[in-house]
Amino acid sequence: MEFQVSARKWRPQKFSELIGQEPIVRTLTNAIRSGRISHSYLFSGTRGVGKTTAARIFAKALNCAGGPTPEPCDQCEFCVEIREGRNVDVLEIDGASNTGVADVRDIIENIRYATAACRYKVYIIDEVHMLSRSAFNALLKTLEEPPPKVVFLFATTEQHKIPETILSRCQRFEFKPLSQRQMVRQMEAICKHEGIQIDQASLEEIAKTGAGSMRDAQSLLDQVVAFSGREVTSGAVEAALGIVGQKVLERFVDGVAQRDAGALLEQVQEIVANGKDLHFFCRDLIEYFRNLLVVKACKKPELLINVYVCNLDALKRQAKSFHPDELHQMFRVLSRVETEMRFSSLPQAAFEMAVLRLTDVRPFRDIDGLLEKINRLENSGPASAPPDPTGSTRMASGAHRGQSEPGHSAPGRPPAREDIELKKNPSVAGETSAEGSAPGGIPGFPDWERIQREIYEKKPRFSVFLAQSRLLELNPNAACIELSDPYTLALIGKEENLAAIRAAIEAVCHFAPEVKLAVKSSTATALHDRQNANPPRSPFDKGGREDPPFNKGGLGGFPVSAPEANSEEKSVPGDYNKPASKSETEIIQDALDIFGGIVIR
Ligand SMILES: [Zn+2]
Repeated sequence: MEFQVSARKWRPQKFSELIGQEPIVRTLTNAIRSGRISHSYLFSGTRGVGKTTAARIFAKALNCAGGPTPEPCDQCEFCVEIREGRNVDVLEIDGASNTGVADVRDIIENIRYATAACRYKVYIIDEVHMLSRSAFNALLKTLEEPPPKVVFLFATTEQHKIPETILSRCQRFEFKPLSQRQMVRQMEAICKHEGIQIDQASLEEIAKTGAGSMRDAQSLLDQVVAFSGREVTSGAVEAALGIVGQKVLERFVDGVAQRDAGALLEQVQEIVANGKDLHFFCRDLIEYFRNLLVVKACKKPELLINVYVCNLDALKRQAKSFHPDELHQMFRVLSRVETEMRFSSLPQAAFEMAVLRLTDVRPFRDIDGLLEKINRLENSGPASAPPDPTGSTRMASGAHRGQSEPGHSAPGRPPAREDIELKKNPSVAGETSAEGSAPGGIPGFPDWERIQREIYEKKPRFSVFLAQSRLLELNPNAACIELSDPYTLALIGKEENLAAIRAAIEAVCHFAPEVKLAVKSSTATALHDRQNANPPRSPFDKGGREDPPFNKGGLGGFPVSAPEANSEEKSVPGDYNKPASKSETEIIQDALDIFGGIVIR
């Protein structure tokens, strides 16, 4: 027997077989049952969701020998003729190839004659939005006052292209895309009947690629069966559809977790080289991150995740590597590039840039926490506290935490200055980590980020504190973390917190050192002091530097954000306590510099 594609072979012949459009079926069958048949119907919706099929079933329902009936028999002469497309009273016209006014005039001419044998004369016009404007105008009059027993059934994928005057004369039905589950169920039935062996995961993949269109999904199924025969494996589905498998996705997300930009880009190249579709890959990746978020947010993620396709254990493992903020941001980055890729002439480049962006995503700072911290610092009187001339190093470990004295040395001291000091004198930072640990914290300790993430798992609020901290030392004996200020030290230096940090280090590095905390300013300054025998510098100790907060040489008088090499010129926050000392003339001159203009009075 001649091969017939699934979409035709399995085309529904009764309303009860039409899946996914229950409200429409109900309205149409009720109309038939009560004899309230309109003159014109418009079926709109995406391709392959059953519009033309519904129109044909409707034509059969009207003309069935035992009808009009909501369930046509599909056996009588009329039903068979309509099914085979050779009934003279049911005309199916392709709007895409009969667009002109002459074609419509033919229809109108023909309409006046009575039916040959059927009860109703039915005109099914597919892709009706393709008709020209004059063709639509020619139809208007007929649609308004059609002869009795004539029914127009229009089908379109683009309803917005149809003139309002036509729309208002039709009963309109919006066909919905099919859900993945509905499509899988239908394909299962087809495969069972055809003797095709296919696993659930493969069906899910096909349904996903079908994107709501049953006809697309059935065509894909045919394609997969043509590729691999009657025993379909998931590998065959991936190869035939140009999608990547879960293993590749898993490996990619592992790369994102490790922030390994090089490996990720290599993987993208590999996917392209293997002839896979980057759009599909991006779409699958979006879904993957959605699943990671679901795993992170829900107690029973298996209810919300397609477990046939996904590896839940891998998702649970990977979800631990990310902060929820990061997952949200990554999801957004991918969603945006998915749209961009559709319009880009260089979709691969766009995707690669997005991949690089993924490796750079960090959790948001906790704004409430930051505000609270700023308020406390302000309340503790920043300007009044003199800089600590000796700059004694204060360390707090689990044992000595009681001795730490928060607020002892200028808590309001702006941190920017220390950064400047350290950058200007790399030797200072080098001395700080004399025992072989690298300066700058993170570069020397690739595990530090993972440790931080591990800590955030248990103590989400630590993200604020640790974001401003540096790891000075990490070995099996000791882990020394430098914090930004004494307030943070007081908050973190509790035994339970130190234990949590120790546990996080153990989870990542497999050793549990003693955790020591230090405060940034005093440590750096003290060492600086001892090594160089220079007097400590503070933002308030100007030492001949006379940068007003509004640098007149800068861009329109705004503070210049100087490059690091020029950091001496950077206006530090502490300087903002100074404007009171400016003379009135200076203030006016500043205003003129910023806003322009002249002094009138
Ligand atoms: Zn019939």
